[in-house]
Amino acid sequence: MGHKAITKGVTLSWNKAEKIIDLEFREVEDDLEYADFKVYFHTVETDPRKQLTKNTIMYHFYPISDFDNPNRGVCVVNVGFPFTTTGEGIPLHIFDPQHYPDPVTSTAETIDFDAVYEHELCHGLGLPHSPHKNTKTYGNYSGMAESMFDEEPYETIPRLQAKYPKEIMSESRLKRWINYFKIRQDKY
Ligand SMILES: [Zn+2]
Repeated sequence: MGHKAITKGVTLSWNKAEKIIDLEFREVEDDLEYADFKVYFHTVETDPRKQLTKNTIMYHFYPISDFDNPNRGVCVVNVGFPFTTTGEGIPLHIFDPQHYPDPVTSTAETIDFDAVYEHELCHGLGLPHSPHKNTKTYGNYSGMAESMFDEEPYETIPRLQAKYPKEIMSESRLKRWINYFKIRQDKY
């Protein structure tokens, strides 16, 4: 994934949060502006904070309210994982041409970038893991809901709304946004 797709995936997650809590997000304008949330890309070997393991897809420090913490708002992505915008499998000869030179039908698993970033964002906003499968903050990639809007019943949204002022929006408008995100989250 390139810089543009990564920025879009991050922005998409923030846009979802903006629809349920009364916070607004934007990209910093230049290096002089202080960013509350930062995303870094590392391998297990290059991670200066030494938190990545070979099984860690991403991690996020929290809570964001700890201004004295030098890791405040820091998210680290493990570039050792194959990320895509959909998390769907990609043919092995495209994923790993060195070992699969001929076109094949079998696919390699990929990781849905924005789905994992949305999970990390919840940590960044102060939510610990949920023990419930099919929620956004479930601690394992398999079993995690793709979006906070895909949960049944909603758990992450009320958890965030308990911590932050709630965004006031009509039910019908929110439904339209949810439909928009369902399409956008795999096509960006
Ligand atoms: Zn987590």
